[in-house]
Amino acid sequence: MTTLLINTIYRATEGEGVQLGSPQVFVRFQGCAIGCVNCDSKETWDFDASKGLELAEVVKKVDELAHEGRWPLRRVSITGGDPLHPQHVPGLMALIIDLKLKGYWINLEAAGSRIVEEAFKASDFISFDFKTPSTGVRTSLELLARFIRDFGHKGQIKAVIADNADFGAAFEARRQIEEQVGPHPIPWVLTPAFSPGEKMPLKRFQEVMKLNEDWGAPFRVIGQQHKWLYGVDAKNV
Ligand code: SF4
Repeated sequence: MTTLLINTIYRATEGEGVQLGSPQVFVRFQGCAIGCVNCDSKETWDFDASKGLELAEVVKKVDELAHEGRWPLRRVSITGGDPLHPQHVPGLMALIIDLKLKGYWINLEAAGSRIVEEAFKASDFISFDFKTPSTGVRTSLELLARFIRDFGHKGQIKAVIADNADFGAAFEARRQIEEQVGPHPIPWVLTPAFSPGEKMPLKRFQEVMKLNEDWGAPFRVIGQQHKWLYGVDAKNV
């Protein structure tokens, strides 16, 4: 029996990044030790044993949700928490393999703190975070360069931008990595940050777009559509 720690499984439309607008089933793992100060999913941090679900239950729930509409969904996004934490990896691999055998397309959300080769190889798309200064967490540029070299053909890099310092850090990281690996086609996506209590960061969004235009447009600026539509505190949407 394989037990996975799961925060929630739900059906919704992707609200951010280059897959924006794609309906899918989300499997959100419970447990993350990374500690971003601006995390909007702190309820996923505890490795809470009461959140254990058997693999078969997880796959059954995904199937049920995928078949709720007139025509089944074929996309699954695995997120967290941190689905790549070593404690999760055996369950994660079993889940990916089962879902792939059923014909699902798998998006894996990676926090940018580690590359798990077997999980990355088995997934169809990987979203890899570059942690900006406002997160209080640092992403290794060596790791990022390795991700781009080995998996850049099926991924994106996402960075949350709260201010000019965040934009500058993302710009400098991209520049340094380009020196190492050469021009790379992988999209770098900037997500303008929400501050606590903020409804819609229009001014920050405009500022990030302006910075990107001024600095030669190395990025795509894509906001969090689900927060505009359902509110900043809404979950599972
Ligand atoms: S990696 Fe994700 S879940 Fe973990 S602290 Fe950072 S934003 Fe929150």
